[in-house]
Amino acid sequence: MRFINDIDIKGKRVFIRCDFNVPMDENGNITDDNRIRAALPTIQYAIDNKAKVILASHLGRPKGKPNPKYSLKAVAKRLSTLLDKDVVFIEDFKQQKDLIEKLNNGDVALLENLRFHPGEEENSEAFAKELLELFDVYVNDAFGVCHRKHASVYALPKLAPITVGGFLLKKELDYFDKIFTIKDKPFVAVIGGAKVSGKLDCLINLIDKADKLIIGGAQAFTFLKALGYETGKSLVEDDLIDEAKRIMEKAKERGVRFYLPVDFVCSSSIEDKTPKGVFTYQEIPTDLMGLDIGPASVELFKEALQDARVVVWNGPMGVFEVNAFAKGTNEIAKAIGKLNALSVVGGGDTAEAVEKAGESHNMSYISTGGGASLKLLEGKTLPAIEVLESKS
Ligand code: AMP
Repeated sequence: MRFINDIDIKGKRVFIRCDFNVPMDENGNITDDNRIRAALPTIQYAIDNKAKVILASHLGRPKGKPNPKYSLKAVAKRLSTLLDKDVVFIEDFKQQKDLIEKLNNGDVALLENLRFHPGEEENSEAFAKELLELFDVYVNDAFGVCHRKHASVYALPKLAPITVGGFLLKKELDYFDKIFTIKDKPFVAVIGGAKVSGKLDCLINLIDKADKLIIGGAQAFTFLKALGYETGKSLVEDDLIDEAKRIMEKAKERGVRFYLPVDFVCSSSIEDKTPKGVFTYQEIPTDLMGLDIGPASVELFKEALQDARVVVWNGPMGVFEVNAFAKGTNEIAKAIGKLNALSVVGGGDTAEAVEKAGESHNMSYISTGGGASLKLLEGKTLPAIEVLESKS
């Protein structure tokens, strides 16, 4: 695959597809600008190398219509501060082509939310052709959307005369490649979150690659039920019990150490934020649900992680959004943070949980893409990456 530093961009109009899908509060203020900061190396490189820089991104789900709630205006402002230079905000790229034409070498413009146009999510070639008129070089630095066939990452790079990747994209792909190719062992995968169904392909792939598999979050209950235990009101996917059995059998065949939590912080419902106590997996009351792993599980998982040389973590250990059920996730974040290991954290909820635990700086890498990183853990290729490879 070719990257932005493999080509000459001086004086060229360089379109960089970024992932500026940042969280905002109800007043439209950016509450976490990590994704903007992560895009800076590519943008700064393009500025330093005297390109005319045209940035584009999506934000939220405006469903193909302009909606001020999802405007990238605040992103343009934050970018301008971070880059310490003006960022021209292009509200309507079809009507304001003159603003793009006026860009000098080293200038930066940001287009309004691509998803204000229905063609973006429809992967419309006609929409891609409209964007195509704006630039000479296409750069994909939007790892977080590479698993989607959307126009700006799929139809557009196919049509573009020159198509390359950005530095963030390279970093993401390199880290996920590294966890599967590095010779250091043991390789420990920590998988949590809400549902087995969402992580099934990931578990199946990891069973073939990891030395230890640690299961947390609600999905632990489908495995415990498969082993014949009473799980009370905890979330269980009954239709996946046989699949859970197969995964555990496969782990045994392959000699993968398979860890399940041994105790849980339980309450009557997710809304009931006053825990009713800690119960071992043998004694979950029928009227309660497990919402976090308990202290014995934390100790067990810490011990299992102790000798890890490579760790990949996707999915919180409990309902980390609620303080009463966040301790298990926080403790595992701290335990992974302390390791002398390559630690890679999947994006989305897990990235947020690690940030909340104050452990971000202790991880080797935190992905900017939840869905895209999960696909890589499933061993799948990403459509937008296939396009980049085919154009190299
Ligand atoms: P995922 O997107 O699959 O990684 O799931 C993340 C979600 O799983 C978070 O919103 C957590 O609140 C939720 N979660 C984790 N553990 C539990 C649990 N024991 N019961 C219910 N939800 C959980």
